[in-house]
Amino acid sequence: MIVGAGFGGLRAARALASAEVAVTLVDQRNYHLFQPLLYQVATSMLPPESIAYPVRAILRHQKNLEFRLARVESVDFAKHELATSAGSIGYDRLVLAVGGRTNFFGLASVEQHGFGLKDLDEAVNMRNQILRSFERALQERNPERRRAHLTFVVVGGGPTGVESAGALSELVRLVLAKDFAALEIKDVRVILLEATHALLAALPEKLREDTALRLWRKHVEVRFGAQVVEFDGERVTLKSGEVIPARTLIWAAGARAAGLIERLGLPQGAQGRVRIRDTLQVPGHDDVFAIGDAAVLEREGQPLPMMAPVAMQQGALVARNLLRSLAGQPLEAFTYRNPGSLATIGRNAAVAHLGGFAFTGFLAWLLWLAVHIAQLIGFRNKLLVLVEWAWEYFTYERAVRLITADQVRERGD
Ligand SMILES: Cc1cc2nc3c(=O)[nH]c(=O)nc-3n(C[C@H](O)[C@H](O)[C@H](O)COP(=O)(O)OP(=O)(O)OC[C@H]3O[C@@H](n4cnc5c(N)ncnc54)[C@H](O)[C@@H]3O)c2cc1C
Repeated sequence: MIVGAGFGGLRAARALASAEVAVTLVDQRNYHLFQPLLYQVATSMLPPESIAYPVRAILRHQKNLEFRLARVESVDFAKHELATSAGSIGYDRLVLAVGGRTNFFGLASVEQHGFGLKDLDEAVNMRNQILRSFERALQERNPERRRAHLTFVVVGGGPTGVESAGALSELVRLVLAKDFAALEIKDVRVILLEATHALLAALPEKLREDTALRLWRKHVEVRFGAQVVEFDGERVTLKSGEVIPARTLIWAAGARAAGLIERLGLPQGAQGRVRIRDTLQVPGHDDVFAIGDAAVLEREGQPLPMMAPVAMQQGALVARNLLRSLAGQPLEAFTYRNPGSLATIGRNAAVAHLGGFAFTGFLAWLLWLAVHIAQLIGFRNKLLVLVEWAWEYFTYERAVRLITADQVRERGD
């Protein structure tokens, strides 16, 4: 039984394809989501369906697998049973691969009024909000209120915050400036707030500095030592007491384990993730494994990051360890092979840290494009994304400038 068809769960399910076991894969969504490109849906670059793929289509040919669309509510470890939105389901061995969710660090006002970026609905909501802010600004006569509509605050200087801020600034300057010629472009502000004194903290200093410089060149105001304490939908308040009038706050400042993990009563570590052994088993439950963002293993005193390569490598190992445990063999310990880091800052600009080499600029950007295309699931999605990127690159247009949802989470009306 694998719960979660994300990066880890899907890798585990596929790795069991030729084994003599019956695999049940449960997910609350019927699609696998490529979260690293969510920010491109939010900034009108890609349509939502280009970064999602139906689980049934991915696993159609896997004869030993059954997919169930259901939300797991709790687990009875003694009875070996899941309570789900579609009834209870029994298991012999369980893999928890339920991923993570946005961490608002208890800031209720930010959670209520700000925008997280974790699933497709949130990305589309954010796109609607950005485009609607320009429409509202055009209709607003009061200059202060107009500027507040055109001020976009991105919180968090990790990869998601950096990539979102760069893409948003380019959307504004390269595309929306043409659509809204009556607005003053100098009234638009994209502000990236980082509580510490560095962007992309995991990268070497040279790359961190280069990232900040490139963002400045793209007209993103990067602010360090800026900690948000409140957002009421109209004003962002910082710990220093400074108030920034803004109607849009994008929260990219943290992640924690999915809600299910909190309900299971298992030992939790950093970011609320389940503590696991090197074999990926949950202590005290030899037949339960946890992987990816939902689980935490420490290396050199630091938790392994909540990133796709960790989840995928653990997915591959959990499949091997499941078979070993069924055969009564000793289980393998997890060793993480860090493939390196890549982040893009917009057109022709990215930073890369691979195998001890640090480089930036066009080459890093090309590599970023290639890696992301290669990792997308499905030939159609690869082609779709490639065509959208090429179209945007050569025409300076973003086709998906649509305000779509009927029930837009309106801000500051
Ligand atoms: C905006 C964003 C950008 C990112 N960018 C990068 C990047 O550039 N590089 C990188 O390496 N990583 C990136 N990540 C992190 C990466 O996406 C995660 O580390 C990875 O998805 C973790 O894989 P996972 O299998 O643990 O969980 P996920 O891929 O999140 O999958 C979890 C699955 O479990 C399902 N699920 C959850 N709860 C339940 C339940 N109760 N019942 C049933 N199903 C459930 C979910 O629907 C989901 O399908 C990014 C994440 C985000 C949000």
